[in-house]
Amino acid sequence: MQADYLIVGAGLYGAVCAHELAEKGYTCMVIDRRDHIAGNIYTENIHGINVHRYGAHIFHTSDREVWQYICQFAEFNQYINSPVAFYQDEVYNLPFNMNTFAKMWGIRTPEEAKRIIRGQVEQLGITEPRNLEEQALSLVGTDIYRKLIKGYTEKQWGRDCSELPAFIIKRLPCRFTYDNNYFNDRYQGIPIGGYTAIVERMLNDGRIQVQLGTDYADYRKTHDLSGCQIIYTGCIDEYFGYSLGTLQYRSVRFETEELPVENYQGNAVVNYTERSVPYTRIIEHKHFEFGTQPTTVISREYSQEWSLGLEPYYPVNDERNQELFRAYEQLAGKEKNVSFGGRLGNYRYYDMDKVIRAALDYTETIASRK
Ligand code: UDP
Repeated sequence: MQADYLIVGAGLYGAVCAHELAEKGYTCMVIDRRDHIAGNIYTENIHGINVHRYGAHIFHTSDREVWQYICQFAEFNQYINSPVAFYQDEVYNLPFNMNTFAKMWGIRTPEEAKRIIRGQVEQLGITEPRNLEEQALSLVGTDIYRKLIKGYTEKQWGRDCSELPAFIIKRLPCRFTYDNNYFNDRYQGIPIGGYTAIVERMLNDGRIQVQLGTDYADYRKTHDLSGCQIIYTGCIDEYFGYSLGTLQYRSVRFETEELPVENYQGNAVVNYTERSVPYTRIIEHKHFEFGTQPTTVISREYSQEWSLGLEPYYPVNDERNQELFRAYEQLAGKEKNVSFGGRLGNYRYYDMDKVIRAALDYTETIASRK
């Protein structure tokens, strides 16, 4: 069968596109080089615990339409992300809030916290933050930057904080209330039963075929694609054979183990913010779903520079890479029947809700099949 659309990548972007296009009457062939669907939101069940194999995913959004959309495919629990940070022998709440400030400085009121931060920021004389370091320092001052940001960020990105874009740190709220919610969004939760089931339901349509273990480079050699539209969600530089050079990504190595204890760390996410601990954080998966299983599964995350053969997770959106990405975008614009989407196709540090929004916006421009 020759499908109307070939969708390269069975992750969230590809699955939403396939689902929407099928609803509009198109046939879709979804291929993925992995042996499973769901891309990086894939969860696998280990003794009753849904393990986020490619890193923790917490759904959060303020986009009501996206929330209603995703709720068609799963029921969400009431999980609120409240990570804890370990710095040496000290324990702090994240994101940066009155609990963090009280612990850091032994103070109690927002006024006291603001005064301390203001004092530290004034000494630095930063007016227009030009990079992550300046942005972080001007938001929370030197103590928090040094203990909770610098080491973690440099491990996570393998680069000096002064070389990273400011927007990365703006992902985290900074608030002067005793509120440990990591996100400011209106809707938040974890899908009961895991993310893989969401993608399964999206792809469960007679008009959608899924072929796993299939690489696009091989597929295009053996299939005539001239009559179909292509939605490509892999790395944009890979699509063009790295002809203009390679974009940089960060990869993560997960060391996952099942432990014979009921509760290992008492929280789903614990960050290790000092430089000398080699991993950035430990995820204890059961706590995303308030699990009561007799054992637990934890994943230590080791951040590393991406190279061929590793999984790309985070685009490195510094100026040099952005410029190269724009050059690839120019090439992409000349491809008549191909559109690019998702974190890798658009080289953007997208959250899941933004991926869904982009997929809905894209498919909305396509008329229903006559
Ligand atoms: N960050 C930090 N300290 C922390 C947690 C995060 O400095 O304890 C910074 C770091 O630069 C990181 C960014 O905030 O890259 C965004 O963190 P987020 O938790 O949003 O990253 P993700 O969950 O996408 O890996």
